[in-house]
Amino acid sequence: MTHYDVVIVGGGPAGLVAAGYCLHAQLNAAILTPELGGKVNYPFALRGFKPENIVWGAQLVAQFEQMLAGARAVPHLATQATAIEPVPDGRFLLRLREGDPIMARTVIVATGAAPQRLYVEGEREYWGRGVSFSAISHAPYFAGRDVAVVGGGRRTLVAALELAQIARRVYLIAARPQSMAELPEAAYVQALPNVTLFSNWEVQAIVGDEFVTAIQLVGINGETRQLPVDGVFVQFALLPNNELVRHLVALDADGHIIVNHRCETSLPGLFAAGDVTNIQSEQVLVAIGEGAKAALSAWEYLVTHP
Ligand SMILES: Cc1cc2nc3c(=O)[nH]c(=O)nc-3n(C[C@H](O)[C@H](O)[C@H](O)COP(=O)(O)OP(=O)(O)OC[C@H]3O[C@@H](n4cnc5c(N)ncnc54)[C@H](O)[C@@H]3O)c2cc1C
Repeated sequence: MTHYDVVIVGGGPAGLVAAGYCLHAQLNAAILTPELGGKVNYPFALRGFKPENIVWGAQLVAQFEQMLAGARAVPHLATQATAIEPVPDGRFLLRLREGDPIMARTVIVATGAAPQRLYVEGEREYWGRGVSFSAISHAPYFAGRDVAVVGGGRRTLVAALELAQIARRVYLIAARPQSMAELPEAAYVQALPNVTLFSNWEVQAIVGDEFVTAIQLVGINGETRQLPVDGVFVQFALLPNNELVRHLVALDADGHIIVNHRCETSLPGLFAAGDVTNIQSEQVLVAIGEGAKAALSAWEYLVTHP
């Protein structure tokens, strides 16, 4: 069986940068991930939009990919982890979808979080051309435009509040408004003059030409309505990819791995970074910083637990 000092699970910005730092520290490390880049490769374009003065997280992450490929000191195991099992001597056995299990003294979990989809006509087609799953990433590009926000929880309400400051009109579509009625943010949203709430309406389709032009709704009595918009923000809670460790470490109420300021989880030797954790992330640059921290903490753990 192959043994490593550090195994990084996940090849998004957090995992790639953690691997880069392991390389820097000359650790015996491997990165275990089916692909490299994670969510940085999600597309984004908008009618009449010319990106200026923005940081391309994908470019930063590509530098780390090149660093790993060039040095060949951090092997890329191009498959998924299917289980992480602590063994009595404090190490971890990792089972892989393809290939033999491997052993690690420390593990960094950087498996990210997945957006929840609507699965309606036009969602896939206009993904990145008006359909967005991340208001904190894309809201600034909708200044003066009309947008729809779809969802039913705190993340939905916060997106509506943020977009209301930037966009001209915000249509908040909540098929089940009772799921957010008790939240304090609901009252703030209702007080905004440029937010219109569509309670008990469901999204039937997202329509457009090259880009999104409208969202089509259906009411509880079957009536339909089309709202002209440039953007549709699908803002249900992100689902943290915590399957590997949910029985091993403390999670918050939404399923994020709880980490402290050193990216330590509740299990010694197991670290976590990026969107899978309870750190306010959902941005490439935050995930990059968290990945660096996790690797530095794992390095310190290794030298202090010989
Ligand atoms: C639609 C959308 C658009 C966004 N746009 C922007 C933007 O414009 N700017 C910005 O800063 N941020 C943006 N973000 C947020 C940003 O993409 C994330 O914050 C960032 O990618 C998180 O990095 P991560 O490494 O934690 O996770 P991810 O990027 O999600 O990477 C997770 C990695 O883990 C791997 N993995 C998962 N499970 C396993 C397993 N069992 N075994 C092995 N590997 C596994 C995956 O294959 C992937 O490589 C956007 C997010 C979304 C959803």
